[in-house]
Amino acid sequence: MKLKYLSATLATALCLVAAGTGLAQNSAPPVQKVTAATPAPKLVVMIAVDQFSADLFAEYRGHFTGGLARLASGVVFPSGYQAHGATETCPGHSTILTGNHPAHTGIVANNYFDLSVTRDDKRVYCAEDESVAGTTSKSGAYAPSVKHLLVPTLGDLMKVRDPEAQVVSVSGKDRSAIMMGGRQADELMWLAPTGLASYRGTTLSPTAQQASAAVAAAINQPRPGLTLPADCAARDIAIPVGDKGATVGTGRMARDAGDFRRFMASPEADGAVLATAAALRQARKMGEGSSTDLLIVGLSATDYVGHSTGTEGSEMCLQMAGLDRELGDFFARLDATGIDYVVALTADHGGHDLPERNRQNAWPDAQRVDKALDPEAMGKAVAEKLGLPQPLLYGDGGDYYLAKTLTAAQRKAALAELLPRLRAHPQVEAVATREELDAHPISKRAPDSWTLLDKLRASYNPQRSGDFIIALKPRVTPIPEAGVGYVATHGSVWDYDRRVPILFWRKGLAGFEQPNAVMTVDIMPTLASVIGLPVDASKIDGRCLDLLSGPETSCR
Ligand SMILES: [Zn+2]
Repeated sequence: MKLKYLSATLATALCLVAAGTGLAQNSAPPVQKVTAATPAPKLVVMIAVDQFSADLFAEYRGHFTGGLARLASGVVFPSGYQAHGATETCPGHSTILTGNHPAHTGIVANNYFDLSVTRDDKRVYCAEDESVAGTTSKSGAYAPSVKHLLVPTLGDLMKVRDPEAQVVSVSGKDRSAIMMGGRQADELMWLAPTGLASYRGTTLSPTAQQASAAVAAAINQPRPGLTLPADCAARDIAIPVGDKGATVGTGRMARDAGDFRRFMASPEADGAVLATAAALRQARKMGEGSSTDLLIVGLSATDYVGHSTGTEGSEMCLQMAGLDRELGDFFARLDATGIDYVVALTADHGGHDLPERNRQNAWPDAQRVDKALDPEAMGKAVAEKLGLPQPLLYGDGGDYYLAKTLTAAQRKAALAELLPRLRAHPQVEAVATREELDAHPISKRAPDSWTLLDKLRASYNPQRSGDFIIALKPRVTPIPEAGVGYVATHGSVWDYDRRVPILFWRKGLAGFEQPNAVMTVDIMPTLASVIGLPVDASKIDGRCLDLLSGPETSCR
């Protein structure tokens, strides 16, 4: 089977024919160079590729020939940073179009604990409304919501300026669509086993329903294995994981009909999102009116591939080739409309390969986290030793919360036992307490020179973060045992999880490369400037990046 995925199929199903827009150009006029005097583009396209680390971009950059090659010829920041410490999907997506660190977006983790909620499940998913009766934070059992996002997105501000501005957000994951889409999006949706889903009680538009049916049909088709491109051959090595004879590294992405998880861990998922985004743009005539519109695209497959099979095998090589091709098809479709559009692409966090392959590839010290660091296990041990009520400790990731029922003296005793115990653990780099973080200002320095406390502070919010936060040592993978479908992850304070590419492209915009460190919180003010939208600099953490090389500036 050729490396040609769903977008072509969907494009046909959805009649995505450029000529139908009336904007197709038969003979291309000479490209006008973008200058400070060039009018604002009519369409902003924001693309987030989940887990697309700066390391992956560097590894595959020379192989790209499609959409990623085009973006790599634009304005390139190879050392972009999701600067904060909690390098998870929800916090990362919350920085991209708000210009704010998670400390200010309020999205401190994928899941945090609110011990004051009335339901039994005290864990709160970043993109849910936990006050809806009968819900839990468990996947599929929550009510999706934007309520926890504390700051406006670019789309929200565009709509304040011009209510006619259209904002559409489509993603593989709900939290990606929601954290980038904000409160005012006209349409917001994500992939689901049934095709596309949105907020409870929201009816998909007719175009989205059509796309949803096409996506569902694709999921319900089996898929034969893909042919490995020649330049992937060197990565095609089986790596044993776990003790049941499983391996990763040589996969071809074959799947059975209806296998949604395998669909998500392949370029098919990205193709489905891109085809849906293109269909919605066309149906809504985005970029064809008097306003500037915003099309937000969240591509999640790279993350699913990274988690299920790691970053250095045949699977990621297939994914990179597919992503590049799908993006190329998407841009070609936009080009055919003749609309002047600007694209920004980045990632919500980086990533790190599984320890089993790292150990084979010159990193013998790579390891998996000790089960004793699990909050439940640790809370139980300390509660039993001190005779304290249980459960004592809540946690899911780096943040640890002490039970609210403790007296001040009990709390003090628990911390006096827990903190030295944790700090003495050979896999723990540091433990930062709420008091330390409260006293620490958010760094104004470039993110490549941040201290560990600077990183943790940027994703610390006093209302939502834990009583203390644990940072593991580098190359300790926080998955105690590799299981099928989940062998590698991100989330650490280390640069492999923080560094992401930040790429801008617009027809006629002269490309340049700036290897110095910039941040994903810089993207929002940069795009706002390009479309002439004023932003109150005191309300954001980022700064405008000047996309015009030479004396002119795109920052106004
Ligand atoms: Zn992610």
